[in-house]
Amino acid sequence: MSSKRDYYEVLGVGRSASQDEIKKAYRRLARQYHPDVNKSPDAEARFKEINEAYQVLSDQEKRATYDRFGHAGVQGRWGDVSDFGFGFGGFGDIFEDLFGFGPRTRTRRAPGRGADLRYDLTISFEEAVFGCERELEIPRYETCPRCRGSGAEPGTSPIRCPQCNGSGEVRRTQQSIFGSFINVTTCPRCGGEGEVVNTPCGECRGQKRVRVTRTISVKVPAGVDNGTQIRLAGEGEPGVYGGPPGNLYVVVSVKPHRYFRRQDNNVILELAINVAQAALGDEVTVPTLEGEEKLVIPAGTQTGKVFRLRGKGVPYLRRNGRGDQLVIVQVAVPTDLSDEQKRLFKDLAKTLGKEVIPQEEKSLLEKIVDFLKA
Ligand SMILES: [Zn+2]
Ligand SMILES: [Zn+2]
Repeated sequence: MSSKRDYYEVLGVGRSASQDEIKKAYRRLARQYHPDVNKSPDAEARFKEINEAYQVLSDQEKRATYDRFGHAGVQGRWGDVSDFGFGFGGFGDIFEDLFGFGPRTRTRRAPGRGADLRYDLTISFEEAVFGCERELEIPRYETCPRCRGSGAEPGTSPIRCPQCNGSGEVRRTQQSIFGSFINVTTCPRCGGEGEVVNTPCGECRGQKRVRVTRTISVKVPAGVDNGTQIRLAGEGEPGVYGGPPGNLYVVVSVKPHRYFRRQDNNVILELAINVAQAALGDEVTVPTLEGEEKLVIPAGTQTGKVFRLRGKGVPYLRRNGRGDQLVIVQVAVPTDLSDEQKRLFKDLAKTLGKEVIPQEEKSLLEKIVDFLKA
């Protein structure tokens, strides 16, 4: 882990680089180190490293997490980023863009894994906390059911390509001033496959696959957060020449809640109480994720005081237990006092004196961190 290079260093950009600069740096390096272009022994490793760095830094949220927590941050939350295939997400586009071909057309006739698909799923705060089940409409390619992927109309079968005799290659002897040499090219008739279809399948028109929209149900486990990925193995696009299908990755994003905020598995609620409640104490009801809960405010409660409601937070993903709800008190000062209230405050003021005490400035987050450390 410690041997991992800094992503910014990998792409040779500064920490404040814009998305545009990152994209440019990535393109330049990817062209330079692509294993099809660069034959040096470490090209593939460099290429992987460059891709991994780009996947994180090109994504605002992942980049922010990486900036704060380093490699450990992005691995913990998004799984091992280097595991992603080339077909992941919009990655195929940039590939096509860079080299003029997509990841699907690498080696002809060799079994190839199907492309991975990505689905961005937006759910509510409560759904993220308690889990939910959703039906997703996934448009994808599937092996043509009519010809079972042969491309030939049922009852007929592909025949050996007459031009290349099934080899998929065309060899031509060419003469040059240096003598004769053999020029090998992909057979133009069969596209290198060695077979041609005389009677194309009526459903896929010989394309071997058809585009369909599938309804796939996904169980979102309790405790997911922004950026959590759910992998549906084998629900991506079909493989070629007997290769396995790709996976479908459902990437979760969570809508903000009206009152609650989330910090890891804790739920944070800011609660305004009035001056009298703060000074004299009170018993109040506060909203939690599962209805209302009583909270005792002791006399003399200050702004910024944090109360903990144990086990009222977000369940841990993939293990038992839940976080807590943290209630942060804000003492609200009344603004439109009645004459009677003004008189009472004035009487009170006479008894309180005029001493003022400078306070340390602290953000909400700092208060929570202090509270959790204490
Ligand atoms: Zn077909
Ligand atoms: Zn051929």
